[in-house]
Amino acid sequence: MHIVVSGGAGFLGSHLCEVLLNRGDKVTCIDNLATGRAENVARLASNRRFTFVQADVLKPYVSSVRVDAVAHLAGVASPPDYHRMPLETLAVGSRGTENMLELADTHNARFILASTSEVYGDPQVHPQREDYWGNVNPIGPRSVYDESKRYAEAVSMAYSRTRGTNVGIVRIFNTYGPRMRANDGRVVTSFVAQALNGDPLTIYGDGSQTRSFCFVDDLVRALVVMLDSAHTGPINIGNPIERTMTELAELVISLTGSSSSIDYFPLPTDDPTRRKPDIGVAEELLGWRPVVGIEEGLARTIEWFQGRSKEVKAASAELAGEQVGGQGVERLELAALA
Ligand code: UDP
Repeated sequence: MHIVVSGGAGFLGSHLCEVLLNRGDKVTCIDNLATGRAENVARLASNRRFTFVQADVLKPYVSSVRVDAVAHLAGVASPPDYHRMPLETLAVGSRGTENMLELADTHNARFILASTSEVYGDPQVHPQREDYWGNVNPIGPRSVYDESKRYAEAVSMAYSRTRGTNVGIVRIFNTYGPRMRANDGRVVTSFVAQALNGDPLTIYGDGSQTRSFCFVDDLVRALVVMLDSAHTGPINIGNPIERTMTELAELVISLTGSSSSIDYFPLPTDDPTRRKPDIGVAEELLGWRPVVGIEEGLARTIEWFQGRSKEVKAASAELAGEQVGGQGVERLELAALA
């Protein structure tokens, strides 16, 4: 198959490109390198079935060769990134998705939308099943991401209904692993960078909020099964084992053997309190369930970051600076008020 992967130089996208090439597919990776990195796909460049195109999905993409499937992973997924790039985040979720749908529709290709557990917002139903419609604040700071993905789902379904496009929607829950950027601001990378550097781990809120963390290999395996299937979804993809942020921090400290302490900062606005996927549909329709436990997945992630000490050092310093310049100031102000 010839598969176009948008966001193919990103964390998830680059792993997907690699798996597809390994099984013999031809892959065209489109990425504008806004949050993706050329180095993520550098070692794929020698494969003659791999093409890298530095392009923005905000512009229509025309392929002169037949496309069998489009995996639309381009997007701004890390909260600090989408707070920094709110308009770009909305644009890529809306116009970017429309352009990738047009590409799939033109070629009668399968279209996979990488949607998100964020469509459930701060969920009032737990664990989250696909038939739950969510609890999203449409005007809060997270809305640029949440609503753009909700729109992406809506427009994908509209293409499916009106044009018969072969759409498949996956809702991806927190995923981690090698090739995340140390400074991307998400909790796993922040904790690992801070622990490896011996800096305090920064817990937002009291650490009782939960997430369910899926290792990247498991996630990508599900994407490939979805790509090969004809299911429309949406289908939750994630690891249903739920952890509090305090548990995660303690686990990272123990796995790194770090002497880091823990510092507490205010919880960001609209930060979801609990998140855990019900993966019954994925198990039934895709025959998929995750197999990598968090201890193993974190160990593999830590090992990867251990080989990138310069990046880790810089990230940890950057994160500390952000706390002082951003949330840290808020904390000082709160302390002053008290
Ligand atoms: N978080 C934290 N410390 C950090 C970064 C994030 O305690 O340095 C918290 C964040 O407030 C949220 C959880 O960890 O409750 C997961 O955050 P992340 O940004 O990784 O993903 P998302 O909120 O999109 O699930």
